[in-house]
Amino acid sequence: MREFKIAEPRTMDELAALLAESEEPVAMMAGGTDLIDELKSGVATAGLVVDLRTVAGLAGITPEKDGLRVGVMTRVVELAEDAVVARDYPSLKEAALSLATPQLRNVGTVGGNLCQRPRCWYYRDPQVVCRKKGGFNCFAFQGRNKYHAIFGGSGCFIVCPSDLAPALISLGAKATIGTAKGDKVVALEQFYAPPEVDVTRENVLAKGQFLKDVRVPAPKAGQRAAYVKLKERGTWDFALVSAAVAGVVNDGAFAEIAVVMGGVAPTPWRLRKAEDALRGKPVSEALVRQAADAALKDASPMRENGFKADLVFAALKEAVMAAAA
Ligand SMILES: Cc1cc2nc3c(=O)[nH]c(=O)nc-3n(C[C@H](O)[C@H](O)[C@H](O)COP(=O)(O)OP(=O)(O)OC[C@H]3O[C@@H](n4cnc5c(N)ncnc54)[C@H](O)[C@@H]3O)c2cc1C
Ligand code: SF4
Repeated sequence: MREFKIAEPRTMDELAALLAESEEPVAMMAGGTDLIDELKSGVATAGLVVDLRTVAGLAGITPEKDGLRVGVMTRVVELAEDAVVARDYPSLKEAALSLATPQLRNVGTVGGNLCQRPRCWYYRDPQVVCRKKGGFNCFAFQGRNKYHAIFGGSGCFIVCPSDLAPALISLGAKATIGTAKGDKVVALEQFYAPPEVDVTRENVLAKGQFLKDVRVPAPKAGQRAAYVKLKERGTWDFALVSAAVAGVVNDGAFAEIAVVMGGVAPTPWRLRKAEDALRGKPVSEALVRQAADAALKDASPMRENGFKADLVFAALKEAVMAAAA
């Protein structure tokens, strides 16, 4: 591992100033479960590591009048065990519990989960310089792409590995971005950026900015939601495909619905065509098939990952049926 300095800011203002003023490459460390691996392997390099654990006010789950504020340094286990999350946002609890292992959930944070780097094996190999690392080629495109994107790949075919992101986006969460000039709030969906914006990054954070919290709106009357994660192995694993469904159900039909998939695209992927097909009609397996077929018209599977199209239908069916039940 290359040497780096560590900074331990005490306040968010100190943090913002450090990030904005550093002349060396900076890495923020939350729980460190992803970042330390990257620094050890040399996939990430930093002259300055900024420890977020010392910054006051970044952790904690706070009920507010219009919803729930989740600070980025809240550990995943705290989200999974929170009573308000269990009562009002069961799909978020499900997503948190589905993620990694108990040890990782004890250390990993909500912000780290939302900002974790991709698992593409070419990206994680320090010897390989692909487009994401400033090279010219995407090796997954012609090479091994079993776990890669079937939607939205554009010169880079990573998938968003976060389980929390699809669940939060389906619930309408917003992200607060901290900067030296004050906070900015964006829909969490807009926090993620596709490869065509900047292939080297996965979100919109610019130099000097950090993710501060996510805010989930209060549940609407009749709100139902479900999170389904399909994995290759029964034990801990990243999602091959996951589906987060949230909406309002009246008389067996979704009056409102949001469908967000994980594991299928470089960003959490909203299936708007499936939402349109599902909205206002009595839920049935045939309707979900129609919805999946409409959405899958936009899919571009590669040589090894065509199986994900079947999993999109399977995950969508399970999530829609569970939410509507
Ligand atoms: C074996 C293993 C299995 C896993 N399985 C799953 C899984 O099934 N599902 C899943 O969703 N995840 C999974 N993960 C990922 C795991 O959840 C993440 O490692 C963890 O959530 C990262 O949290 P952290 O707090 O340790 O982040 P860190 O490692 O500290 O940071 C991760 C990245 O986010 C950046 N970052 C952190 N906080 C902020 C912030 N506030 N603002 C801006 N950038 C920030 C860091 O700079 C770094 O690049 C797995 C990881 C491992 C190692
Ligand atoms: S999918 Fe992205 S990270 Fe993976 S090899 Fe291609 S450019 Fe690199």
